[in-house]
Amino acid sequence: MRPLQMVDTRTQYQHIKPEVDAAVLAVMESAMFIGGKVVNDFTEHLGQYHGSKHCIPCANGTDALQIAMMALGLEPGDEVITPSFTYIATVEVAALLRIKPIFVEVDPKTFCIDPDAIEKAITPRTKAIIPVHLYGQAANMERIMEIAAQHKLFVIEDNAQAIGCDYTFGNGTTKKTGSIGHIGCTSFYPSKNLGAFGDGGAIFTDNDQLAASIKMIASHGQSKRYYHDVVGCNSRLDAMQAAILDIKLKHLDNYIVARRKAADFYDAAFAGNAVIRTPYRAANNKHVFHQYTLILDAKENPAAYRDGMNAYLAEKGVPSMIYYPVPAHRQKMFDSFGGSSYQLPITDWLTERVISLPIHTELDEEQLNFIVSHVLDYTNK
Ligand SMILES: *Cc1c(COP(=O)(O)O)cnc(C)c1O
Repeated sequence: MRPLQMVDTRTQYQHIKPEVDAAVLAVMESAMFIGGKVVNDFTEHLGQYHGSKHCIPCANGTDALQIAMMALGLEPGDEVITPSFTYIATVEVAALLRIKPIFVEVDPKTFCIDPDAIEKAITPRTKAIIPVHLYGQAANMERIMEIAAQHKLFVIEDNAQAIGCDYTFGNGTTKKTGSIGHIGCTSFYPSKNLGAFGDGGAIFTDNDQLAASIKMIASHGQSKRYYHDVVGCNSRLDAMQAAILDIKLKHLDNYIVARRKAADFYDAAFAGNAVIRTPYRAANNKHVFHQYTLILDAKENPAAYRDGMNAYLAEKGVPSMIYYPVPAHRQKMFDSFGGSSYQLPITDWLTERVISLPIHTELDEEQLNFIVSHVLDYTNK
């Protein structure tokens, strides 16, 4: 059996090696390492795939979120509503810009921000909502966009984990997550569903003015070379990453199929288990399974039970991860933002119970059977 990993980027590379190697060599031969045709081509293809009018590449997903907040003109003291049950980057950049993150609950089924909780958290200082499509499934964007319109708020989608996820509205129209809000952000971190061989990110919008502002901010606030209109930053996707990503983009839909197939296998194997809750799949969006995350609802001491499975699997050679062991509002980083004063029982409930199993494009049945049998052994002990 091939060794198990949370994400097997090496085997994935082996399947596209000739294409990737040729593209990387071509960049080296061209000596166009920053900008140029390769980056422009990838950006155009990604924008088309995504259904967004503008796609602006940048250095990583964290920068994408920061640049989005800067482009919207968010200022110190403004409030943005975000889930606490998320990766830290989503809220860290708000804090960095002295914008106040307001943490709210998630829906315990989808793991994504709860629209009712958003409504309750709106104040006169609220400027934006930042839903995170966690683990590859969409937040309730229909409700979120309605709330945003009603209260004149911006929506920045953190689509780092859900690139390629189709979301269908009540009227039947379908859009990709990341193309629904005013700005969408994504990451090409190697383990993401569209992963580079290094860092990368992108920002999406349909708004011409915002796109111009985003481009300017990502490039030292330049309107033209050496003329700096606003304070920006330096955030670029390099040509080698763009060359690799352009190839992988063509495979993205197949990669999603492979991830969903692995998820189906797990779902079937764990169906009916008394402790395991398999991921919920909303009918109106296509889960792209960046993570395959179980809830272990043990009756007594669920956190110890969950940590026990994590340790048991490690002993048997099965990797598993806790995403995330500490919710944002409980991070020391947010002490000065009143993080510890929040009461988020659903977030805490999930934090004690979630465990993510290996999921990627290269899992075979032998591997899946091996993982499943050890998970079930633990629950039957
Ligand atoms: C990975 C990730 C980010 C940050 O992306 P980087 O490219 O690592 O900076 C932001 N938000 C979420 C939800 C992520 O999973």
